[in-house]
Amino acid sequence: MALMPRERAWVEVNLSAIAHNVQQICRLLSNQTALMAVVKADAYGHGATTVAQTALQAGATWLGVATIPEGIELREAGIHAPVLVLGANHTPEQIRAIAHWKLQPTLCTPRQALIFAEVLAERPQSDPLPVHLKLDTGMSRLGTAWQEAAAFAQLVQRLPHLKLASVYSHLATAEDPDQTIARQQQQRFETAIAQIRACGIHPPCLHLANSGGTLSDPTFHYDLVRVGLAIYGLYPAAHLGATAKLKTALQVKARVTQVKTIAAGTGVSYGHRFVADREMCLAVVAIGYADGVPRNLSNSMEVLVRGQRVAQIGAVTMDQIMLDVSTVPDLQEGEVVTLLGQDGNQSISADDWAATLGTISWEILCGFKHRLPRIAI
Ligand code: PLP
Repeated sequence: MALMPRERAWVEVNLSAIAHNVQQICRLLSNQTALMAVVKADAYGHGATTVAQTALQAGATWLGVATIPEGIELREAGIHAPVLVLGANHTPEQIRAIAHWKLQPTLCTPRQALIFAEVLAERPQSDPLPVHLKLDTGMSRLGTAWQEAAAFAQLVQRLPHLKLASVYSHLATAEDPDQTIARQQQQRFETAIAQIRACGIHPPCLHLANSGGTLSDPTFHYDLVRVGLAIYGLYPAAHLGATAKLKTALQVKARVTQVKTIAAGTGVSYGHRFVADREMCLAVVAIGYADGVPRNLSNSMEVLVRGQRVAQIGAVTMDQIMLDVSTVPDLQEGEVVTLLGQDGNQSISADDWAATLGTISWEILCGFKHRLPRIAI
């Protein structure tokens, strides 16, 4: 596959757009606030190691992943920056891998802290492992209830082999123009931190904001912001577009593999969900739902061909889609079309697909599968 990267279908990742976005985000931060580039899920489909290297060169100092293998991939690529594993881990194998690869775990419960201390006792001479305490302030996902933060921090402080590196929480509605819930979470976070400090424990780092929190209000920034989506050039919500000028980094392209004329009345693709109402010129393009083009876009997406928007017709199939290219003169097999990105004056974004599908751009980006080569441009 690596030998023929532009043979069928591929993702192009504009690394200077990633660097630009990182710099734009850094401009929003005070000198006291560091930037974590969230590169989980293969950097939201952009390629984890190249994005991580670019983001670190452009001003990020931390990396965030969801899983241990994602962290190991960064270490194997020679990346030494601190890596926070945002997901929860509790088995001895996971804990040994975290310590071995010098990753930094999230501890979500006192029980997890106890298991970590027990497993790390196997290597008593090693430096204590930096750990990050996760509080649930209203997301109702990972984390200890914010009311129990002080007891949690005291336990971690007492346990050998662990070093408290940060206390953090995660916003559930950061991109919502109505900030009522985000403010409530922030207040709970600050109350929890005050209670931790009242026990004489001073966490060296506090963090709360994702892209939405980072773009919406500096009071969410604290010592570190954990930014994913905005690094890739998308806004968590349209009203946040004024804060920073971001550039989308990802384009999805594929080749035309066959061009044919079909008569009026001809059905197209599985189920004949499209029937030509006139003679039509049809192009087959070598990309499908196995690559990350959602099947629910069947008959309702457009593709850019020589700078023109053309309709995709019939069901999206596993490896191929069909286009109505009647308005494109003499289209040739082998020509490149753009599913996401810019061609001439036209562009189609992950936000457009998300709007059609009633989902979010995060899901669209993460949908591009490893089958598509990532080409840094
Ligand atoms: N922090 C945590 C704990 C996350 O789970 C995520 C992503 O889901 C992020 C930060 C980054 O979020 P975003 O892509 O909205 O910036």
